[in-house]
Amino acid sequence: MSKYIASIDQGTTSTRCMIFDHDGKVVSVAQMEHEQIFPKAGWVEHNPAEVWENTRKVSAEAMAKGDISRGDVAAVGITNQRETAVVWDKNTGEAVYNAIVWQDTRTDKIVEELGGSEGADKYKDKVGLPLATYFSGPKVKWILDNVEGAREKADKGDLLFGNMDTWVLWNMTGGSDGGVHVTDVTNASRTMLMDLDTLQWDESIAKDMGIPMSMLPEIRSSSEVYGKGREKGSFPGVPIAGILGDQQAATFGQVCYEPGTAKNTYGTGNFMLLNTGEEKVMSKNGLLTTVCYKIGDNKPIYALEGSVAVTGSLVQWLRDNLNLISSAPEVEDLAKGVEDNGDVYIVPAFSGLFAPHWRSDARGAIVGLTRFANKGHIARAALEAVAFQSREVMDAMNADSGVDLTELKVDGGMVVNETLMQFQADILGVPVIRPVINETTALGAAYAAGLAVGFWKDEDELRKQWAEDKRWEPQMDEADRKRLYAKWNKAVQRTLDWAKD
Ligand code: ADP
Repeated sequence: MSKYIASIDQGTTSTRCMIFDHDGKVVSVAQMEHEQIFPKAGWVEHNPAEVWENTRKVSAEAMAKGDISRGDVAAVGITNQRETAVVWDKNTGEAVYNAIVWQDTRTDKIVEELGGSEGADKYKDKVGLPLATYFSGPKVKWILDNVEGAREKADKGDLLFGNMDTWVLWNMTGGSDGGVHVTDVTNASRTMLMDLDTLQWDESIAKDMGIPMSMLPEIRSSSEVYGKGREKGSFPGVPIAGILGDQQAATFGQVCYEPGTAKNTYGTGNFMLLNTGEEKVMSKNGLLTTVCYKIGDNKPIYALEGSVAVTGSLVQWLRDNLNLISSAPEVEDLAKGVEDNGDVYIVPAFSGLFAPHWRSDARGAIVGLTRFANKGHIARAALEAVAFQSREVMDAMNADSGVDLTELKVDGGMVVNETLMQFQADILGVPVIRPVINETTALGAAYAAGLAVGFWKDEDELRKQWAEDKRWEPQMDEADRKRLYAKWNKAVQRTLDWAKD
């Protein structure tokens, strides 16, 4: 019997292949970063060919490192940075333009025009999302409008669209030689093109955006066999059997299977998802309604989501643009060197502000500077900005659901930062809990794939694999919490006021 499940995690900064055993433990991992391309202010691109090459390399490396043969792998799951849009020629397999990344704000005019007199909530009842530069549909429109010859080719039926899951799957299953053009419900729910009730593409929205239906992948569940690995690849003949967008995958990996359970992931951005069960809750407080997962023929499970664009990438910015630190973990040493934030606040509205504000035109600010402020205060303010933004999202979630979260499960690259985790617990006023297996994104996709092929029996079996590693209890008194959060809100207001001029 096969012993392992492989998971491809095609993230914003890197692509990983992780191989898990039956207990959900990582037995092998390989990872490669890809180039972040910033052609203009507000534009963020990835080279799809590079991403696919890295996917192939990390797959081969993970298999070799763990001394694993193809027969040992029962299935492969895919998880991915969501909303990042690729358009390619199905005959050549070549992308007609770089992938436009979720953080990219070039579509702000398109989004405004699409909304017209009805505004940002024009499609919200159908798709659960406000019109924003974040989502894939307007990015596809941009490519068709701006890349020479793209629209003609699209009209002829030669072009395909996909988010990164679809791009990876199509290539893994043979590319122009029989590649499967499929996505799952969670990724489809981030395009602005899928009806949340029917789980099918909405033709009228696609028409508004000028996107031919022939470009769109078939929408399937998150856990079923979509196809088999191509003969030349690392997983020849192995079923590819799970797809979940990265945040939904983390929710699944954190075993948030009951309505009312939630997780917060701290990566490039922060994403809090609350499982709302079979009920599709429409937010009144700036959250997104999205599909959480759909296991085979079971009913879809929905989630409320609070997406924050810039958290870990603020630490990258301190490293790469300001040279304040030489590696991400150093931010903690710097922050610990000062007693408090010295009254400095950073609002990192680099891609506008996402939840709960949804203001593409907001721009970042550092406020409260005095001659006293030093780099320790900046580092501390950066970490605090991560926690404050998650507080805004949790407040919105509590207001939408009418029930207050009593604890928060966390994961992602930043949760090794203990100073941040303590401040997060302090500013939320509830315990913050980190699981033993922090690789919940890759694990969630592995779980979805494993369920599809019977490697794991059911969700109950998976639930038993979750174990607590560490818990941070709130230590701040209520008056301080209130004072600091009020200051933060004042700082946020500055970035919105700035945008008005
Ligand atoms: P993604 O999946 O979005 O690519 P990860 O979950 O791998 O992101 O997390 C990487 C992010 O975490 C980076 O933005 C990095 O700046 C940040 N990060 C990594 N280590 C630390 C640390 N010790 N303190 C603060 N931030 C960190």
